[in-house]
Amino acid sequence: MKIKEQEIKSWIKDRIKQKEIDKYTEDGKDFIDDNKIQEKLKKNLNADVKKVEDILSKSLEIETLSLDETATLLNVKDFELLEKMKNTALKIKKKVYDNRIVTFAPLYMCNYCVNDCLYCGFRKSNTKATRRILSLEEVKEESKVLAGDIGHKRLIVVYGEYPLTDVNYMKDTIQVIYDTKVKIKNGFGQIRRVNVNAPPLSIEELKILHDVGIGTFQVFQETYHHDTYKKLHPQGTIKGNYKWRLYGMHRAMEAGVDDVGLGALFGLYNWKFEVMGLVAHSRELEDKFGIGAHTISFPRLEPAYNSPYTQNSKYKVSDEDFMKLVTVIRLSVPYTGMIITAREPEDIRRKSLSLGITQTDASTRIGIGAYSEKVNRQESEKQQFLLGDTRSLDEVIKEFADMGYITSFCTAGYRCGRTGKCIMDLLKSGQEGNYCKLNAVLTFREWIDDFASQETLKSAEKIINKEIKEIKQQMPKVYPKFIDYYNKIKNGERDLYF
Ligand code: SAM
Ligand code: SF4
Repeated sequence: MKIKEQEIKSWIKDRIKQKEIDKYTEDGKDFIDDNKIQEKLKKNLNADVKKVEDILSKSLEIETLSLDETATLLNVKDFELLEKMKNTALKIKKKVYDNRIVTFAPLYMCNYCVNDCLYCGFRKSNTKATRRILSLEEVKEESKVLAGDIGHKRLIVVYGEYPLTDVNYMKDTIQVIYDTKVKIKNGFGQIRRVNVNAPPLSIEELKILHDVGIGTFQVFQETYHHDTYKKLHPQGTIKGNYKWRLYGMHRAMEAGVDDVGLGALFGLYNWKFEVMGLVAHSRELEDKFGIGAHTISFPRLEPAYNSPYTQNSKYKVSDEDFMKLVTVIRLSVPYTGMIITAREPEDIRRKSLSLGITQTDASTRIGIGAYSEKVNRQESEKQQFLLGDTRSLDEVIKEFADMGYITSFCTAGYRCGRTGKCIMDLLKSGQEGNYCKLNAVLTFREWIDDFASQETLKSAEKIINKEIKEIKQQMPKVYPKFIDYYNKIKNGERDLYF
């Protein structure tokens, strides 16, 4: 697929709509004040036990913490206090999400990109990368494997920034995914929620994605630290504009996409600063739109092909600090969904579950077109970075079930309007849990009957029976309708939900 250099240049020139930055800034300033964040991190040291406990009580009430409170928690060193923080993080997760975990798969659509982020294997100046854009037919093939063979119901589709993969390509590829139905044991396998990780878009473009029916729209700020951002994203590239990216979520909200996903790439700058940035960003969205981050992601920098920066960064985050940052994010933004990906190795993914993680990918392949290729190769020049966990969805689900977690394939929330502010209020009050508990069992039953191996089936039955007992005790009024749906699903009916 060829496009002239001149056409690319004029496309880049029109990308950033300055008006869609200026309408949100105050006197040209954005809401991330680097000096204030540094001051707060320096000031809130050595808090006494009582102060930390008061902050933890606020988190337990599912209230977003202030930046001072977040800084206090980030600076805790005392072993016992840290344990208390971890225990509270788990309590919050149980209160809001109980023992449910959501799984998804990433689907990389293309790896052409006009930007030049120093840490990314897809960057323009990486002449050693093999470039590819999936055709609509290829997207269909990938979707068939994901929905028909593996049994995924949710995807996150990932795009670089390039004229041939602009919003029209995004719209068409997402439509193909929703339209792909594959005959499986009982009925059809189909992707029911497509989340998007893409470059920042204009309000008009975001409305197009809203109309296709996307789930969450994710844009990671990478680093909230202005100077570091400047160094890693060359000026003159689209991504070089910090504010265009920072206000991408404001524009999404305005366009009606009210489930937005924030993230920082940990390892580019000081990890405590990045957590403060994420909390500030979520608070800003709550202030301006009444809705905070639907999800927060915290990928750690991974080695990428022909990208020496990824090996040399002095801000790489240790496993110990990673666990702490996961804990503090759960405590500071208690209602948010927290995503850990297969970039992380198995043991880290396992440990972080008890600190508040709610979503994870499995059976992951990040090479372009890799799901429909017969052999699973981690081809370095075709993918963005190397994976830490390549286990199948079946293996991951068995492990979750053995640990007492139920995998939910529920996508009802967004299909019946429980999104944005509505879902936030339900999550904060604990009411969303009622729908979720029922839908988790129903969708898990579907999945195990259609896709599970014999070993996974055994582990899954145990957890399902426990859940059904709890539903009978805790929700006697809805139980009859629930058990009717459950039995219908066992007999092969599909897609019944509350
Ligand atoms: N091109 C879009 C953008 O940059 O916003 C979205 C796609 S990009 C492939 C998705 C995310 O991958 C980035 O936001 C970045 O956080 C992450 N990423 C890039 N290089 C990485 C690396 N070496 N290790 C881990 N994550 C990386
Ligand atoms: Fe392009 Fe995104 Fe990679 Fe940057 S991180 S080079 S914008 S794909």
